[in-house]
Amino acid sequence: MSDMTGKVALITGASSGIGRATSKAFATRGAKVVLAARREVELATLASEIEAQGEKASFIVTDVSIAKDVERMVAHAIETFGRLDYAVNNAGIEGKIANITDLSEQDWDRVLATNLTGTFLCLQHEARVMLAGGHGGAIVNVGSVNSFLGFPGGSAYAASKHGQIGLTTSVSAELAPLGIRVNLVCPGFVDTSMHQRLRGLLGDEIVDKILSESVHTRRAGRPDEIAQAIVFLCSDEASYISGTTLTPDGGFTLTV
Ligand code: NAP
Repeated sequence: MSDMTGKVALITGASSGIGRATSKAFATRGAKVVLAARREVELATLASEIEAQGEKASFIVTDVSIAKDVERMVAHAIETFGRLDYAVNNAGIEGKIANITDLSEQDWDRVLATNLTGTFLCLQHEARVMLAGGHGGAIVNVGSVNSFLGFPGGSAYAASKHGQIGLTTSVSAELAPLGIRVNLVCPGFVDTSMHQRLRGLLGDEIVDKILSESVHTRRAGRPDEIAQAIVFLCSDEASYISGTTLTPDGGFTLTV
């Protein structure tokens, strides 16, 4: 994959799971990385690990559902490293898992504010600085197989992830003519803290049954496997790919 030396990548939800692995994958290719999430200690630890490998990293505590935080996050990337080439809008929560009759408006709002409004806010501020920079860019939003599939008990999550498809295709149509590609990566089961919380709620037996019967690879993905898909979509090798979805799910959505 192409060398990313001299480029700058911003990753939200960098404090754990897929975002953490993606930050390391960009740094391994030589990109300077800006790490954003709410937990400062985790961000600082990751930044130190990346710096220890001889790459450049900076972090900023950010809540993606707050417009001022997102504006500050993008400004921090420019102030620190002078440009923004790649952005990964990965921050997300599953929220309360409950049937629609037991879901409060606050439960719904919290998930939509993080997963959908957060993606909107990030796209808006990232696009502004990329356009001002005048050297194009690439943005990857992180959806889910629930961008296509319903999730009984997770209607807010599925609605927010479905919404990211419309957001991604629309914004790609606006930005790709101006040199900024926008895509959506839709992972299946990936072994992160979110996956472990889901196991706790659904039970190991149910999750293991799905993995062994409906996932072609017969296992959950690793965060670094999703990171590779994200970095690929940002790379020059993906120069003709915009407005679409890539589904690293081990084949799950083809048989479910
Ligand atoms: P994770 O380990 O729980 O990571 C979620 C990340 O999002 C954390 O870094 C968290 O950091 C950050 N985050 C949550 N709310 C935030 C907010 N308001 N502002 C800023 N950052 C926030 O889970 P993950 O599996 O890596 O999830 C990453 C993305 O992949 C999510 O969008 C998720 O929906 C998607 N996904 C995951 C799976 C899976 O099976 N794991 C499958 C499909 C899609 P802080 O708590 O520090 O803020």
